[in-house]
Amino acid sequence: PARFVGLDIGGSKTRGIVWTDGAVSSDASVGSTNVQNVSAQTARDNMAELFSLLDVAGATDVLAGAGGVDTDDDAAALAGLISPFVPGARVRVVHDTRLLLAAAGASSGVAVIAGTGSAAWGMNAEGKQARAGGWGYLLGDEGSGYWLVREAVRHSLRRMDSGQAVDALTAGLLGYCGLESPQQLIAHFHMGTTRRYWAAGSPVVFAAAREGHSEALALVEQAASDLADMAAKVAGQLGVAGPIVLGSGLGSNVPELQEAFTGQLARRGFEDVHILRQDPIFGIPLIVAEPAP
Ligand code: BGC
Repeated sequence: PARFVGLDIGGSKTRGIVWTDGAVSSDASVGSTNVQNVSAQTARDNMAELFSLLDVAGATDVLAGAGGVDTDDDAAALAGLISPFVPGARVRVVHDTRLLLAAAGASSGVAVIAGTGSAAWGMNAEGKQARAGGWGYLLGDEGSGYWLVREAVRHSLRRMDSGQAVDALTAGLLGYCGLESPQQLIAHFHMGTTRRYWAAGSPVVFAAAREGHSEALALVEQAASDLADMAAKVAGQLGVAGPIVLGSGLGSNVPELQEAFTGQLARRGFEDVHILRQDPIFGIPLIVAEPAP
């Protein structure tokens, strides 16, 4: 198509790009429009804001890669949220993980998101698809930014329960939250804080790990191991060896996690690991160009 719209709907932000004759003609980001992360009203408001920033006149196609889309009904609901802003266009919704594989230029393999949430998805040369994880924050999301910081909070609370002094990891968390004592973390966690807020605190854990804090190091290793398990499960379902692409907020930006992930996969026999350096949204033109199924 001459003009199409790509959306990447993650746990913390929504980015939209319009491509016109193969080149980016508008590009904007707003807050999350993922109803697993924000209220339906906030999702609608953010979507309206996004489209007020994009020039979509004449666009014939919209392709959205979205977290929190697990069933055809989820996809249809999201498409319904998008359609009014691009009248007449064909709107397609795919799982957000799918964008990573395309952005890495791979037509088959496994993609792992380590962002606010986490998930793995893959496709083999025959076009068979599979996924693992991506259960959302209440059920899983191991290895994600939210998971990592929640585990760090639990570490701090366990120390408090045992009467131990505030350690470096706890001090980092309290500094991030602007709190004075570990006791305050409990109410702070349950009242008025978002998943995005906690996920954004992950640099505290990585900083403690860099300083050799043993629990922080163990958490980073656990995150990497859980993400590697997800990747291996998808690879097993599909019978593919790679590439295994790691991306999104933590996956593309945190060397400690990348290194641990690569190491954990090597232990499981996977050597072809690719760290995605660009935003997954740039996989959209490749998916749009695929022949219709
Ligand atoms: C969501 C998944 C999503 C993953 C990565 C999880 O919280 O449940 O649907 O793929 O985050 O964004």
